[in-house]
This record gives sequence, structure tokens and C-alpha cells, in this order.
Amino acid sequence: MIPNKHFGRALLALSAAALALFVLSFAHSSAVSIRIPLSDLSAASQVIAQGRVERIESAWTPDGIIESAVYLRVAEAPRGGIARGALIPVQIRGGTVDGLTMRSSEEAVFLTGEEVYLFLDGPANGGYQVVGGGQGKYIVAGGRAVNRETRLSLSLADFERGAQENVWPEDAAASLDATGAAAPDNYAFNNVKWFGPNPMEEPYLINVNTGDAGSSGGANAFVNAIVAGGNAWGNAGAAFRFTYGGGSSVTTTGYDGKNVVHWENMGQSQTLAEATWWFSERGNVDQIVEVDIRFNDYYTWDATGNPASNEQDLQSVATHELGHWLSLGHDTDANAIMYYSYPSGSLKRGLHSNDIAGIRAIYGASSTPVPPTPTRTPTPTRTRTPHPTFAPWEIKSRSYLPLLLK
Ligand SMILES: [Zn+2]
Repeated sequence: MIPNKHFGRALLALSAAALALFVLSFAHSSAVSIRIPLSDLSAASQVIAQGRVERIESAWTPDGIIESAVYLRVAEAPRGGIARGALIPVQIRGGTVDGLTMRSSEEAVFLTGEEVYLFLDGPANGGYQVVGGGQGKYIVAGGRAVNRETRLSLSLADFERGAQENVWPEDAAASLDATGAAAPDNYAFNNVKWFGPNPMEEPYLINVNTGDAGSSGGANAFVNAIVAGGNAWGNAGAAFRFTYGGGSSVTTTGYDGKNVVHWENMGQSQTLAEATWWFSERGNVDQIVEVDIRFNDYYTWDATGNPASNEQDLQSVATHELGHWLSLGHDTDANAIMYYSYPSGSLKRGLHSNDIAGIRAIYGASSTPVPPTPTRTPTPTRTRTPHPTFAPWEIKSRSYLPLLLK
């Protein structure tokens, strides 16, 4: 695998004509997202603004997801013409309603009171959108802006200059955040988990609703690829097993009492696949009550074990997304399954020592299968309320990286 710092530097040197070929060969697509250079994030952003998160309003949509309006009090907007002191809504997929929280693996997460620098698109439907999901949100602290996913760290002066002149330090190694806090044993725990002797308690279902299955391995091979990803975690020596429970006709991510894997055309976004989980308050560690995964059918999926350079190995990406179900966050080690980036056209299926340390730390070490339990902890009842500030969430086909994905 080519380290990302080299990817960014090489990208700068390439002509636009060569860019498409280069990316087809070496792009770091993530189980989440394709690594987006700052210049591309910038080019896709109508607004670049710094400010403080003043409040967050969350609500259910009719589709069974929680979305939020994050209200940013703008301190400075070097691009976009937003006045200092203005309060602008930013639309986010995920949030908390009545003690139940929804999170998606690729979305930026906000806290009230946080100082941030944001790459924004819009406004549309009454709100702005963060460009590039988690890659478009920087936390401001100590005179620098740091991205949690890429760990890029920029001075505020660099940020302002980039926003105004579109000149960015890019992915130079020097800009990597050297002070970023690494999690114990270098895995990242989201501080939510399954509880109980058979932690997940319910099997997961798979809907192979993608045309790719016909030409790249067949539906059974697609199911087997995902199950193999689950088995990798089940064989990690932890007290946790995923159990496959059969097919499903569900075609959307939503809170419906079922843990479903499906395909969905999410458009020419940077997102290859996305895990979503719902959890309720419990204590120091909150309790996951449901999970879903959607693979982006815009991209081409392969289960033959021999993906072409522009194809995604289903088992590799599934292993990463199932790691979010545990729930592990993104690892800082590029060799870990839970690293936020995955190279298209390659196999990256084996758990790294960080991944194994993560699942064992969360669920405890065990060498024997865990017996199932017939009981299930009651979960909060979902109440659906009208969205307070904007129309139901729409998956947007974002405009960046148009050359890269034909
Ligand atoms: Zn991820």
C-alpha cells in the first residue's frame, strides 16, 4: 500500500489529464471514503467557515434515521460571504432524540461548544452540508485546525489562506498531526457496545440487491464474502460472534428492529460504504441496539477474490464496516482493517493486531463460542417528530473528484 502522505504529494505533481489514470491505479478508497486532497475539498466548498457549535437539534425522519441541524455561530468565513456572528444550520446525518443516538461511520460528529473549521456546500433545503463527511470537519484548538480522520493539522493562517487563495499545504508529511492522541493499543473505541452473553443477540440479514453480484461472483459469493468478514472478527479470540440470519428485502438504512446489510446507490460521492448504529444511554459505555450497513452501488463490487483496479473487494470492505458494528472507530495505523482508507482493487482482509486488541478489549478475551441468550434488553421506543429545520435528508451526489470516478 502506498502511504497517503506520498499519495498527496504525488497528486500535486500530476496533470489533470493524468489524474484519472493515476487514481484508477492507486486511489485510497476507504471503506468509507476516498481520501480527498484539501484542494479538492476546497474546490467543492462554496463556504469555508470557522465558528463555534452553539446548539444541535435532532429529529427522526420518516425513513427511520435521525438527522440533526448543527447551528454554527460564525467567527470568520474566509469564503462564502457569511457575516461574522451569523448563525447557520449545518445538516448532519445522525444525532440524539429521547436518549437514542444514531451515528454513521462516515459522518462528522459535532459537540455543542466545539470550535471548528468546516468545508461546506450549500445552502440547500435550508441548511449547509459538510463536504467530504468527517474529512471536511476540523477541530480548532491551540491555534491549529486538526482533522480527526486524516490527522492533518493546519495553522489557522494556512486555513484562511487556503480558503481565500486555494493554496493548501496539502498532505505534506509535515502537516500530519504529531500530537494527535492515540487510543490505548492504537485501536479506537466509540464507547458504545453490545451487551449480554451473546453480545449482538440478534442475527444480521443481507440483501444482495446489486447487479454486481451477477458478474463478479454471484449472490451466494456476495453473502459468503460478508459472512467471512464477520467470521474474521468471530475468530479474533474475543467473546463476540456475528451470526448471519438469512436474506432480507430491506433496501434502506433505518431503525426498524433489523440489522441489515444492503446496497444503495449513494451516487458519485466519496463514500464506498457506510455503517450506521443506534445506541441508548446506559452508563460509561452506551448500549448498541441496532446496526445497518449500506454499500454504495455506484461503485463496482467484487467477490471473486481477484478485483480489478477500479473494483472494491467486498470482503475487505465488509470486514471494516462490521468492525464499526462492534463498535470500533478508525485506527491510525494504515495496516489496520479499521484504518479509514482502503486501496481499491486489492485484498485487505486479515485483522491487524490493533483490530484484535480492540475487539478483545471491548468484549473480553475468549477462546470458546458464546452461548446465545433468549432475552433481549428493552430498547427505547422510537418516536417520529417532524424535522425542526429542514426537509428530509437527501443523499447528495457531490461534485468533487469528477475526474476520478469516470
Ligand atoms: Zn470506517
